[in-house]
Amino acid sequence: MHPGGDVEFDVAVVGAGVVGCAIARHLARAGASVVVLDRAVDVGDGTSKANTAILHTGFDTEPGSLESQLVVRGRSLLADYAAAAGIAVEPTGALLVAWDDEQEARLPSLVDKAAANGCADVVLVGAEEVRAREPHLGPAARSGVSVPGEWVIDPWSVTLAFATEAVGIGTVLRLGTPVVGLDVGDEGLEVRTPDDVVRARWLVNAAGLGADRIDEMLGHRDFTVTPRRGQLIVFDKLARRLLTRILLPVPTARSKGVLVSPTTWGNVLLGPTAEDLEDRTDTATTAEGMARLLADGRRILPDLGAEEVTATYAGLRAATEPGGYQIHIHGDQRFVSVGGIRSTGLTSAMAVAEHVAGLLDGAVATWSGRPVATPPPVMPPLGERQVRPMRDPVRIAADPAYGTALCHCEQVSRGEVRDACHASVPATDLGGVRRRTRAMNGRCQGFYCGAEVVALVAAETGTRATTLTRVPR
Ligand SMILES: Cc1cc2nc3c(=O)[nH]c(=O)nc-3n(C[C@H](O)[C@H](O)[C@H](O)COP(=O)(O)OP(=O)(O)OC[C@H]3O[C@@H](n4cnc5c(N)ncnc54)[C@H](O)[C@@H]3O)c2cc1C
Repeated sequence: MHPGGDVEFDVAVVGAGVVGCAIARHLARAGASVVVLDRAVDVGDGTSKANTAILHTGFDTEPGSLESQLVVRGRSLLADYAAAAGIAVEPTGALLVAWDDEQEARLPSLVDKAAANGCADVVLVGAEEVRAREPHLGPAARSGVSVPGEWVIDPWSVTLAFATEAVGIGTVLRLGTPVVGLDVGDEGLEVRTPDDVVRARWLVNAAGLGADRIDEMLGHRDFTVTPRRGQLIVFDKLARRLLTRILLPVPTARSKGVLVSPTTWGNVLLGPTAEDLEDRTDTATTAEGMARLLADGRRILPDLGAEEVTATYAGLRAATEPGGYQIHIHGDQRFVSVGGIRSTGLTSAMAVAEHVAGLLDGAVATWSGRPVATPPPVMPPLGERQVRPMRDPVRIAADPAYGTALCHCEQVSRGEVRDACHASVPATDLGGVRRRTRAMNGRCQGFYCGAEVVALVAAETGTRATTLTRVPR
């Protein structure tokens, strides 16, 4: 797998979000030797950890656009991949609801747009039928549009599965490694980190919010990134009875708007907001944002106002100017830039990877290894409707650690947290443990189990407990 000479890798990918990991997986399967560099200490620790977890159909994308093509294709690829990898998906479908005359007047054009995007099953639904389908909707709900193909998925396991598969076939994952400079040489590129230089024949920029800065290192200004913050509220599982499907608003040009959605973990999500910021790290939630969301939530589902909030969080979309997916190849520099994957990247990631591979094929890039056809890794069953290890007598009989409760709210066993610490892409902090096992993600948010989780992770990883006690999401 070694390309020879001074060049260590066929491809260096900057960014271990869902897009970078999907690209690494795809190219590694094609026979490339790949290194992925990310400044974060875990995969999927940027925008990919904080979204609304919807497997989109692309019904409301701009027909004919690259985004439309890649979302439609990506949805189909990811639905199959998730089924094979045991990643939780719920085929809830969605109901888009109009709340005033103006929104109602736009519904037929949304159905036309959906048809142009290949979603022939998207149809108008009268006001009476809307209420029959979702009886808890607020009194101002009008008619709507049914979108049966919008599903919910466990987003964290997706990035982790791509990374696990890539590592399993030889990809080198360098976390905690910021890329600080790039130089183009005769044989490829030199990727500078604070500690060393990595040499690769090709570079793929999948740096999300930092993609324009990586581009600038090679002299390109094809797009600029503005972080668009989306704040969200997670409601307790008892709120799940209030809806059976995703409740969508009529989208605007700026965002898909505030929705209410079930999650594969049994909770209910409300959000996101859409606020343009300057700070690319500002994932704080604000009192104003929460108040706005709660007001929207009460309008959509009045009973939601009385439900318990489990958690709040915010993610930053990489909104670009110009908008739309910004995927460019600069063959003279052996450089592919993947920017502007703003609101749909979880869904489209596998198709983005396929598209990037196609660009590289077109540039006659060659790889030092042979293609491999491994099955996806089998991911831990984290969905509310999956059989969790603590409810699986066969697993418990084989290893009693799966029957020993650690996090009671989310029914997580000691065995699962132990496994997360020793996986091929291991958890190295509490955020990583949360995303791999759901420990501390429940009603008490780690109030009861936090100390025990910290002690177990410290013992398993050899990390001092005091360095683990910050509890990021
Ligand atoms: C509120 C919200 C809701 C969303 N809802 C959905 C949804 O329901 N469905 C859907 O399909 N999509 C959704 N999205 C979009 C989706 O989450 C993103 O498109 C996707 O996560 C982008 O992935 P990425 O890999 O491009 O970026 P990221 O996950 O941000 O990964 C980029 C990585 O690059 C690293 N990096 C940056 N600069 C450097 C550097 N110089 N050196 C080293 N590493 C660097 C970062 O640390 C980061 O880990 C939503 C997004 C938001 C914010």
